[in-house]
Amino acid sequence: MTTEQLSTGLLIDGCWRPAADGATMAVIDPATEERIGMIAQAGRADTEAAIAAAARAFESWRSVPAWERSKILRKAASLLAERVDRVARRMTLEIGKPLAQSRAEVLAAAETIDWYADEARRIYGETLPGRSTRQRFVTLREPVGPVAAFTAWNFPVVLQARKIAPALAAGCTVVCRPAEEGTGAVAMLIGCFLDAGVPAGVINMLTGVPGEIAEAVMDSELIRKVSFTGSIPVGQHLIRRSADTVKRISMELGGHAPVIVHEDADPVLAAKASAVAKFRNNGQVCVSPTRFYVHEKLRAAFTDAFVDAVKAMRLGHGLEPETDIGPLINRRRLEAVERMVEDTKASGAALLCGGRRPASPNRGFFFEPTVFGDVPDSARVMHDEPFGPIAALSTFQSFEDVIARANGPSYGLAGYVFTASLGRAQRTAEALKVGMVGVNSFAVATAEMPFGGVKHSGFGRENGAEGLRDYLDVKFVSIELP
Ligand code: NAD
Repeated sequence: MTTEQLSTGLLIDGCWRPAADGATMAVIDPATEERIGMIAQAGRADTEAAIAAAARAFESWRSVPAWERSKILRKAASLLAERVDRVARRMTLEIGKPLAQSRAEVLAAAETIDWYADEARRIYGETLPGRSTRQRFVTLREPVGPVAAFTAWNFPVVLQARKIAPALAAGCTVVCRPAEEGTGAVAMLIGCFLDAGVPAGVINMLTGVPGEIAEAVMDSELIRKVSFTGSIPVGQHLIRRSADTVKRISMELGGHAPVIVHEDADPVLAAKASAVAKFRNNGQVCVSPTRFYVHEKLRAAFTDAFVDAVKAMRLGHGLEPETDIGPLINRRRLEAVERMVEDTKASGAALLCGGRRPASPNRGFFFEPTVFGDVPDSARVMHDEPFGPIAALSTFQSFEDVIARANGPSYGLAGYVFTASLGRAQRTAEALKVGMVGVNSFAVATAEMPFGGVKHSGFGRENGAEGLRDYLDVKFVSIELP
């Protein structure tokens, strides 16, 4: 199943090539722990070459008419949709995600690119009346310049698409650096842009360990914006590093989403939807529901339905059609999940299912989907992002109490509420300090609506019309007619 070799070079100025010093690193299938390929490991010289290529290409790409950029993006979107099976298979081998989820991600990425094919033609400026009969006030929106796009591995294709598509639509060029895991799928995404007619140097891809690449990017005066998706500590480091060259930055950082199940919700429907959302991509999702606050009256019905749904989930290799849950991404994440489970047990919470590595599969970074009940607010899992297959259930009685607890941690990405009352839904949505709220729904990531957080979860927005503005500067032109 995993004998195929998945190897990737660097894309610099339109050519795929090895690192200047020949360095490589291994690609591991997380379901088997077998090496399935090699990727080039870029150093400072490669990074500087990619930045220089992006800077050269910017001068011509920014002048390509918006309608032409739009056509190229639309073609890239349709090529990606056509290639969904190949890209999804590669993603599953590289990051372990069940194939159906990989396919859904690739198609979502194609939709995102298609959305920005339209937005490229909608870069609006403004005209205001001048203060005299000869005066005209106008704003122009112009591309910020070459940008760097750093992303996590959990949605390797859609996270890069959310950055590359609006950047290209705006007239920017890109140096992208996907995570070590999932690079092959990202290379296939970029292949769609190249085959659609994106000129050399407009997209450059670097792979390998992040430190050297990121430091060269942050030192560069040529890169005018950095968009980062990943953890809060790395985001904070990049925010600090952006000061010297005064780069624009967008930060899509961690989340720890609360789910509030009010007393008028259907506990079984809410529990079934919650279990699916919680264990999607093994809980390795920034908007994953992590803290479940269930009204005291619904506690038994919600808990029973949730645990039953979780126990029915099947662990396995992501390429096997019956698999619901694949492996975690790597040993480091597996060990972090194990530590979090031990801490939660020690907090006095009740272990309702899972809590250990499975007997089968007996290799790979698998961990059983785990549910804890009666989790005290003081448990680490209630304030540190678990980013893994751990659900923490708790109860509440009053609206004020649950809102205070839901808003307690420093995260502010997504929040969810289940209720039959429009008033309760609205009041909860307004009270949650987050960037996105799902009401009786976990669908908070779509091409057309803004995605992003508040507080330590970051700033800037991806997707929707807002996603394009992050790649545009505003220029005011004050005109005095002769
Ligand atoms: P991480 O921050 O360790 O890694 C994220 C990416 O940044 C990886 O590609 C990594 O190689 C790279 N990286 C590491 N050090 C870097 C540096 N100094 N400069 C530039 N890049 C660097 O995070 P992780 O644990 O791999 O990913 C999970 C985190 O990402 C979670 O906190 C999750 O919530 C967050 N995430 C957020 C979103 C969002 O849209 N808000 C989406 C997906 C993941």
